Amino acid sequence: MLDDDGSFIAKAFALQDGDTKLYLTLTTENVIENGQEDLTIPYLDDKENNTISCAQQVSTTIRVRFFAEGAANVLFTILPTEPDKAQSSPANLLVNNYLLRLRKADRVEEFTESEDTPKPPPYVSAAKICHFIDTEIKPIIPSQFLIDHLRVAYSENFLDRCNSVLRFMEVNETRKKKRRKGYLDDGITRVGLLVENMKPNQTDDAVLIEFKFKWLKQSPGAPSNSRRCRTCAWHIMTGLDTEKRYCPLALASGNEEVIMKQIRRLFKISNIKLPSSWRDNEAVKAITAYFQHPLGGSELLNALKISQEKLDPDGILNWVPVPKDVGLASEATQFYPTAKELISEHLGPLLKLARAMTLRDCTVFVKVIRDTESELSVSAKLGDLDPKLVREDKVIKWAKDELGLIGNGFYEGKDLITPVIYPEAEYTEVCMLWQRQ
Ligand SMILES: [Zn+2]
Repeated sequence: MLDDDGSFIAKAFALQDGDTKLYLTLTTENVIENGQEDLTIPYLDDKENNTISCAQQVSTTIRVRFFAEGAANVLFTILPTEPDKAQSSPANLLVNNYLLRLRKADRVEEFTESEDTPKPPPYVSAAKICHFIDTEIKPIIPSQFLIDHLRVAYSENFLDRCNSVLRFMEVNETRKKKRRKGYLDDGITRVGLLVENMKPNQTDDAVLIEFKFKWLKQSPGAPSNSRRCRTCAWHIMTGLDTEKRYCPLALASGNEEVIMKQIRRLFKISNIKLPSSWRDNEAVKAITAYFQHPLGGSELLNALKISQEKLDPDGILNWVPVPKDVGLASEATQFYPTAKELISEHLGPLLKLARAMTLRDCTVFVKVIRDTESELSVSAKLGDLDPKLVREDKVIKWAKDELGLIGNGFYEGKDLITPVIYPEAEYTEVCMLWQRQ
């Protein structure tokens, strides 16, 4: 079942009576009305010759191959089934520009919670994700900085076949241990997402750097004498290796030297291998200039920074003040009834705060392309803009995280006073706030 190039091919997707058909929906119709989600995404059936009234639909046949998976989603690359088809055919359009992203069900077969196999996060449908991006994200982030999302419906046993790929990988031990037993569920929905594929083609003279901007503004709950930003304090608290750390505040500083240092860190963290004829320094400089340019990365950073601040001006502890004993306890189930009350009391601000959390957790794809004159051009787009649900477990986690950072002095760098616990930190501080002391 391994392909010639060593990668895994979904052999299960060899054409069989049309069950690999994937119906691309290019419509923009509203699928959430009056708060109700309509999951009856129209199908296009070749045999019946498009019985759906919507004119903007095309159907095409594809093959898919496992590409990657995270806690919530599985990504598949799209392969052509008929390589000679015209370049402009729907299949080629998909192959060249998109990945198929399918959300896993939030339950795990034979699930027993452990460090090795964490449960996937709550299920959010593709329809909800698209609706959220259209109504909550597009009004605040200019569209040139957002990757494309298209909803897609697929044929009946498509997900079963995708699951058989995941199961086969488990048998082969090519699926990550902590992702095992998390599958896709046909019973929930038959809608997936096509997301713009930012990865350069093999023939492109280009590189892609992928990371998260995280907290571009200091947390509103941080003490006034903080010596670390929220992300840096979090990195220290979670024991992240210094080589894997970068400071978002520094990236958004506008200062050439400060940004450049962080870009170099990101190159190392992402293990970026530039094409042999590229000069390291030139690529770092081009990205730095992009993040300083008012119509380029600086515009994106500012839009994110302003939105993160506007949507969460008071901090989670203002709305969900978890007591210290809850903050320290690993389980906080006794606080759930209180959290439920607090959520209904402060739903408006908490929904906004959740949107700020999405903007802190999204991924940025930075693409550098070299043209025939050896000029480098840089562009950036955001992905993974899934809505965060305002639920008891979520708000308690956010509050506990903040309480842990404040209570243990990670913002102020008090951990350095007890170097027995964190002996490495003293010599390796990377936060921009720290260097300004
Ligand atoms: Zn920092």
